[in-house]
Amino acid sequence: MSTLTNHSPAVAEPLSWSVETLLARPGHERPLFNQRITIRNGKFTPLSTIADPSSEAGKIALPAFANAHDHGRGVPTLSVGIPDAPLEIWLSRLGIEPRMRAYLNAACAFARMAEAGIGSVVHCHNTQNGRALLEEARGVAAAAHAVGIRVAFAVPFAGENPLVYGADTKLAEYFPQPDLYPQFSTTRYRRTMEEGLAITEALAELESDTFTIQFGPVGPQWVDRKTLETLSARSAETGRRVHMHFLETKLQRDWADAHFHEGIIHYLDRIGLLSPRLTLAHGCWLRDEELQILAERGVIVSCNVSSNFRLSSGFPPITGLLRHGVRFGIGLDGMSLEDDEDILRETRLLRGITQSLCPGAEAGIISSDNQERLLTQYFDALFRGGREAITGSDGGGIIREGAPADFVIARTNRIMRNRIPDAALPELILTRLTRQDIETLVVGGKTVVHNGRCTGVSLPDLENELDTLIQKALSQVTDLTPVINREWEDGIRRYYQSDAHCQNTVPSS
Ligand SMILES: [Zn+2]
Repeated sequence: MSTLTNHSPAVAEPLSWSVETLLARPGHERPLFNQRITIRNGKFTPLSTIADPSSEAGKIALPAFANAHDHGRGVPTLSVGIPDAPLEIWLSRLGIEPRMRAYLNAACAFARMAEAGIGSVVHCHNTQNGRALLEEARGVAAAAHAVGIRVAFAVPFAGENPLVYGADTKLAEYFPQPDLYPQFSTTRYRRTMEEGLAITEALAELESDTFTIQFGPVGPQWVDRKTLETLSARSAETGRRVHMHFLETKLQRDWADAHFHEGIIHYLDRIGLLSPRLTLAHGCWLRDEELQILAERGVIVSCNVSSNFRLSSGFPPITGLLRHGVRFGIGLDGMSLEDDEDILRETRLLRGITQSLCPGAEAGIISSDNQERLLTQYFDALFRGGREAITGSDGGGIIREGAPADFVIARTNRIMRNRIPDAALPELILTRLTRQDIETLVVGGKTVVHNGRCTGVSLPDLENELDTLIQKALSQVTDLTPVINREWEDGIRRYYQSDAHCQNTVPSS
């Protein structure tokens, strides 16, 4: 059977599911027991109690998880020979990624996420062919539809500083023979803002309950100010969300400080970009006073801790987010710790870092009184904060009558291997549950994962097909270009070490 078409689920679509335990709003409400979940028109109807719970022993229902920031990498970068490195070096290696069909790549990533219990995701699209964005986006939309999870597609707006944070001509000064490097080609295609807006309009026709479009200015160092200001105004006019990488690394922080004399956050505030419609991904180098402004404007921050580890970026500003009450979600960024899209592990990691960064009762965040509140905030990020970055405020992230019917059922046999008091259940989920325990994912009332496997596509078949294509592409590489071009990377290092990214302080127009 072709993996490029939906295959019918082997089971009839159920209208109700029974579980031994149900956490309708983890961290806020106590567990319910022996419950039946029933769905009508994609929404939950009132819960009911089941008479004979024995057949449902070891099953727990939770709201579906939300992945607040990703790139839909069906083939992880390590799989094509791109080692992890500091972001600015790693970015320069991405050019060797083999071309992959957008549908296949995205479907594989979305299916892996679904089997980990992720019911919604922001897909920040990295184009493989800049001239084919519209076609690639249609492939991603088809993948989202085939797998069945909710996908917010962030249309990339870029065009500035493709090689380093500064002009290509300046970077060329750091190479004895720049003509030897095709990276300095002046014929590189750059999509204009007008083209990006036209593509956004065209893609809006594909929008549905489960596929939506966002503006995706890739990051302030890659986008001119006119584009940022235009997108800010369009977002205010239309309500369309905006999703942007922001202050991911120290070099980006330094660039921003040199290029925005009023302060980059004050600039973004002045142009109206800071609003509840905005998600900022990473934010590792946000300052305390900036976090206060983000809290006041209702901006959502996506914490992507595994990515930050792997690309030497820093830590999510988690203690500041908590202190100031900034809304936040959890994102995998296509770089989960073990390339397995396990967002439960990601949540655990973020929590552990918080506890390590501020041991004791520093700033009142961690104290015995606040432990429970802290647990609640991580659950809110996993179930609700990240979801709002994808769907806006749609009333989801909770199992309650009238809410969108997005939930997971996990097996608790493994994690409850000892006799454990019911009150410890939330703590147990954050400490032990992993993707291997996910049995069912339902999105909008549709069964996306059954018995741990996607119903709409076959993940093993997709992975096999991608593997075959990658092996073929890699075998056709004849110029023996090494994955790590040390001379090129050393030139980039010299550029940043000399602070060249901070010297041209004329604002981009
Ligand atoms: Zn990213």
